[in-house]
Amino acid sequence: MHMSRVHADANAILGKSWYDYDNFQIDWSPPERYEIVRRLGGGKYSEVFEGIDMVNSDRCVIKVLKPVAAKKIKREIKVLRNLTGGPNVISLLDVVRDPSGRYHSLVMEYVENVDWKRLFPVLTEADVKHYTFQLLLALSHTHAHGVMHRDIKPANVMLDFQRRELRLIDWGLAEFYHPNVDYHIRVGSRYYKAPELLVGYKRYDYSLDMWSVGCMFASMIFRKEHFFRGSDNDDQLLKVMKTLGTERFDLYLKTYNIHFETEIDNLLVNYPKQPWTRFITAENRHLASAPALDFLDKLLRYDHRERLTATEASAHPYFNSVRLETILIKEDPVSDSGFAST
Ligand code: AMP
Repeated sequence: MHMSRVHADANAILGKSWYDYDNFQIDWSPPERYEIVRRLGGGKYSEVFEGIDMVNSDRCVIKVLKPVAAKKIKREIKVLRNLTGGPNVISLLDVVRDPSGRYHSLVMEYVENVDWKRLFPVLTEADVKHYTFQLLLALSHTHAHGVMHRDIKPANVMLDFQRRELRLIDWGLAEFYHPNVDYHIRVGSRYYKAPELLVGYKRYDYSLDMWSVGCMFASMIFRKEHFFRGSDNDDQLLKVMKTLGTERFDLYLKTYNIHFETEIDNLLVNYPKQPWTRFITAENRHLASAPALDFLDKLLRYDHRERLTATEASAHPYFNSVRLETILIKEDPVSDSGFAST
């Protein structure tokens, strides 16, 4: 009941050397090989730069970690090492430490990213299907290997529009999933936080990421920058309730025996469930098809066990055309051998 519907024993099967990141030895490279070109961005835990690998002149990304707990650094590296090479997962190329031992950096493949705020408003239906499917492939692999990403949001999904490629980045909050473990609920980014985080349910699992995929998908098909935009965690829950309704929320709390207390009066009011068609406008009608709404409805569920898993999601009829495309590319011997079909 309080366990993931899928891959609950992934880490037990893969073994201690797979998930025991605290006891994992890292061979750090010296920093001379890489040069910083420009700053790309930064956050609470890191500063990110575009860099150059002086050995092969390749562009790369250098993520300099702020001095945080060694355990957190080890977790991010172990997760990335385990998942590198998986579909659409950003590749970790090297780990670097300066001689003082104070600064730790991750060297990763560079993605020619188009900012999602510019890209989402111009995506066609075929684009939305393609990129969402690519994200699902990344998550299917991640979850099957015992890892929850825990911070799925547009800013962590790099999109190379020219090459039609997607890479899932920022594994700093990712964690190995073990059944019957209480996890921290202060993860994720507010607009993409699943209901379990907002009501304080700690036995969450991979399905946490699927809620965030639902939020991203809704923002793409309805052409809204953020679908649920709360001003704090309570308001975030309120925004969700005003869409999904309170009846199912109450049922969710009851099903999992969650004691949710609030001082916010608005959270105690009854709201009906809104039909997804209510969000259709003249601008998004071409994206919000019946299969798209059906797919969305199966992701944005309070009850995490009801949400589609990443693998189930990629099998939804909404993606029929994308799956066909993938099969055709795979079976085409010309593209298979890597030669251009000119
Ligand atoms: P992060 O702290 O990992 O979320 O990265 C901060 C910012 O750096 C991101 O929002 C991106 O704009 C940029 N960035 C991170 N990784 C890459 C990458 N592999 N390729 C291109 N840009 C990146």
